Amino acid sequence: MKPTILTSLLLAAGLACCSAAASAGTTLVQDVRVFDGKATHEHRSVLVRDGMIVDADYRGQPPAGSRVVSGTGRTLLPGLIDAHVHAYQHFELPLVFGVTTEVDMFTAVPTMQKISKAMAEGRNHDQADVFSAGTLVTAPGGHGTEYPLPIPTLENGGDAQAFVDARIAEGSHFIKVVMEEGLGSRKFKSLDAATVKAVIDAAHRRGKLAVVHITTLANARAALEAGADGLAHLFPGARITQEDADSLAQLAASKGAFVIPTLSVLESMAGVKPRDILDDPAITGLLDKEERAALEVGYRPVPAPALMTAPKAVLAALRKAGVRVLAGTDAGNAGTQYGASLHHELSQLVEAGFTPGEALAAATSVPSDTFGLGKRGRIATGYKADLVLVDGDPLHDIAATRRIVEVWKDGESVTGQRDRQRKHVAREASAKPTQTLPADGRISLLKDGKLASPFGLGWMPSTDQFAGGVSSVKLDALPDAQGGQGGAVITVAAAVKTGFFYPWAGAAFMPGTQPMQGADLSRAKVIRFRVRGDGQKYQLTMASTGMTVPRGVPFEAGAQWQEVAIPFSAFGGVDPTAVTMIGFNAGPQPGDYRFEIADVRLVER
Ligand SMILES: [Zn+2]
Repeated sequence: MKPTILTSLLLAAGLACCSAAASAGTTLVQDVRVFDGKATHEHRSVLVRDGMIVDADYRGQPPAGSRVVSGTGRTLLPGLIDAHVHAYQHFELPLVFGVTTEVDMFTAVPTMQKISKAMAEGRNHDQADVFSAGTLVTAPGGHGTEYPLPIPTLENGGDAQAFVDARIAEGSHFIKVVMEEGLGSRKFKSLDAATVKAVIDAAHRRGKLAVVHITTLANARAALEAGADGLAHLFPGARITQEDADSLAQLAASKGAFVIPTLSVLESMAGVKPRDILDDPAITGLLDKEERAALEVGYRPVPAPALMTAPKAVLAALRKAGVRVLAGTDAGNAGTQYGASLHHELSQLVEAGFTPGEALAAATSVPSDTFGLGKRGRIATGYKADLVLVDGDPLHDIAATRRIVEVWKDGESVTGQRDRQRKHVAREASAKPTQTLPADGRISLLKDGKLASPFGLGWMPSTDQFAGGVSSVKLDALPDAQGGQGGAVITVAAAVKTGFFYPWAGAAFMPGTQPMQGADLSRAKVIRFRVRGDGQKYQLTMASTGMTVPRGVPFEAGAQWQEVAIPFSAFGGVDPTAVTMIGFNAGPQPGDYRFEIADVRLVER
């Protein structure tokens, strides 16, 4: 096409998406129940062309060459918006579940910039759109610094404006601030209230929203008093008075603030599994083993459902007080999965007293308006054609959002992606990965003077360096005189240094044939090994696919050889059919460590 003044203007305005999406053609969804982001309309027909909704209440004959999709008995929703994720992987997965937009609350800056560029150029029709905070604002040693991603931090009393301006220059769509002293045994340094207020004021000076991460009632109040536009999370708690819940809701209402409760991740912290979606083939048929494991493995192995008492009470109070509530899952965390978890979050909002229509608005028009996401979150003429067609009526049964018939992103059908994912999951389910263990179960071998193993990638040094730490380790292997022919004594000399949230160094056995691939070790029930060393305490760690943090069981290395036997069942949450790693680690206390292990066996008893 010859550039005319009009197309030049469109390109200049960043609307190149429309021409790039021209291949999407014309689609008419006929005679369908429409939830437009706020209200419901029966027997509508919606016409989509070139990535846009060109008529949200089309009354004519199907245009020539258009694809007609029957809407009878079905409901058309705006593409769903998850208002709280950490977008660092699985960028296609949300679309498979009808989540066409994600609000990211902290990811790597290059990731954010790559997605923003693809969106601006209209070439991410196969991925969810992401609007990101980029780097969050936290104190040195604060929450957000514990991940393998080095980030700049703001000292209390530091130059908040310069810090915020640097984030905006990187491309942050809004500003995310952390107020968090840590829960349980895990402690963080936090920004104080004065610095949080300075950050919020700095964001407002540049016309940006400031969202504050909180995990306590006191911080929720302090963030709202400091002028936060919204709260990320409610806080876990086994009890809260009605007065406290009401007064927090009143405070949020008086400030015009919004709240993203993130019930999905709070449940993970309370050890409550999202059974409704884990037991629903419409969801699990589209999640491979690793993706499903992330949903299964929550943050707390022992359930403490009482911790959901406070968030549910506050949520009810927020609704009563008319506070804007946005559906967000905190996907990217243990116990959640991109796309899939939003359907659980919707169900939980309804369980907490929201009408299905209110819950659907919380995942469509409300986050779009709140975060200024442009023409999305609604089914209206001139809006982006991000759409979800479901069987049944989610306005009566919210679980119907999982009965997805078809998803469109920028007017393009995602059915091909959904079919590919379903086939991939089915293929994986029919494969037989069971690892045949050697008869004696021994995995610590010496071959040609080198450390070896009967299967898997075998033994290797393992330190926090891959997560940005600075600890180091040296492994040596000697013949094991006691353990029988071919066995190895593994000598571990570790230097554990501060530099990562949880420093470690040691030896790891990888049972899979590729890094972090799970192996089925379920024929073994116990790990046995001999150990001696410098008298310090160590950790036997184990992880399975989808686990972000391995489980650990302590052991001691005294001066004399000692046999240690630890059952697999001691590693709560580890799936023995998909073990990715078995580690023998020093740390987290800094210092020099020296120990030897030998005759490591995976056995039945
Ligand atoms: Zn988060």
